[in-house]
Amino acid sequence: MDLYEYQARDLFEAHGVPVLPAAVMQDASEAAEAATRIGADSGGVVVVKAQVKVGGRGKAGGVKLARSPEEATQAANDILGLDIKGHTVGTVMIAQGAKIAEEYYFSILLDRSNRTLLAMCSKEGGMEIEQLAVERPDALARVAVDPLVGIDDAKAAEIVQQAGFDSDHDEIASALKKLWKVYQEEDATLVEVNPLVKTEDGQILALDGKVTLDENADFRHPEHADLVDEAAADPLEAKAKSKGLNYVKLDGNVGIIGNGAGLVMSTLDVVAYAGKDLGETDGVLATPANFLDIGGGASAQVMSDGLDVILGDEQVRSVFVNVFGGITSCDAVAEGIVAALEQLGDSATKPLVVRLDGNNVDEGRAILAKAAHPLVTLAETMDGGARAAAELAVNPNS
Ligand code: GDP
Ligand code: MN
Repeated sequence: MDLYEYQARDLFEAHGVPVLPAAVMQDASEAAEAATRIGADSGGVVVVKAQVKVGGRGKAGGVKLARSPEEATQAANDILGLDIKGHTVGTVMIAQGAKIAEEYYFSILLDRSNRTLLAMCSKEGGMEIEQLAVERPDALARVAVDPLVGIDDAKAAEIVQQAGFDSDHDEIASALKKLWKVYQEEDATLVEVNPLVKTEDGQILALDGKVTLDENADFRHPEHADLVDEAAADPLEAKAKSKGLNYVKLDGNVGIIGNGAGLVMSTLDVVAYAGKDLGETDGVLATPANFLDIGGGASAQVMSDGLDVILGDEQVRSVFVNVFGGITSCDAVAEGIVAALEQLGDSATKPLVVRLDGNNVDEGRAILAKAAHPLVTLAETMDGGARAAAELAVNPNS
């Protein structure tokens, strides 16, 4: 789960990372009071910042300096409702302005390919890090971090040294160690600060934060549930989550159900290939509508829940069920499909192509053949099933 900047800021503060006072609001009418409290009436400057889960807000007009409560209200009015890369701004954060002397970059992330954690740091922050990595790779220090050790004194010193800071080594190292605490104690997969700044009076501050939390560790953090932005969540994904399903909404029209993440991933590929191969019919191209892994159990209830979510997707025109029977044998899966269709009754309206293979495949197919549900077609192979489902998506009469 990606957090909003203000949520990242709050986590930083809770772990002792230096940040500036801030307030969050959905309505510009609250801006003047907050700006006054933060210091905009006593010669201070505040920053009004769009809260959207995309980068580059500054360039898109989503970050504005204000020198008075009136200016803060004006800025909040301008920013609320703004469209930034497809995200409509519904919340702004008003933060105390920093007098920036230097902008740095720092991040900790999961380095999957090297099976470790990686810290990245540069004394040339502010600009987009992707651009810096391409144009001036030498200016970006990359230091592997052992997850069992983390960023201790020695690792912090190594990062500071590799990034080539000329001064303030101890202050920067101290901020990095606290940011490590955020990463570890909150079970994050990303903590990024861009910019980490040095102010004119020599303070080191995290001025913008991006945090991604590992949802697999949610059981350790009941408090993280409060960070979920239910309004922004996809309603189908929210429904799937409430039923405990591993579902990701995609943009296509062929619903996919499979068991095992690997099989589902390859099913997505095979359906995409079949769709491309068929080409467009009346402007419609068959592509996968979702990822749904029903796991090892594949009970009637799970199958029914899965179908219910997928059929609730208005874009879906056909469904491909691709199951490899293992511990849960094909006859159990077939019973699950029959029972699910019975449970769903009239709300099951889209054609289903079912491919079963593996343990007890003959029994499974026999069960589906006997049920002879008008919406269900049996496929012999994965490729054949993908093609049949793709055809049904572009041409329902095929
Ligand atoms: P982003 O564009 O979405 O990454 O938003 P940031 O919060 O990083 O802000 C973009 C830029 O605005 C920063 O790199 C700073 O140069 C500037 N900025 C942000 N906060 C302040 C502040 O408190 N004071 C000043 N002077 N500039 C700021
Ligand atoms: Mn930034």
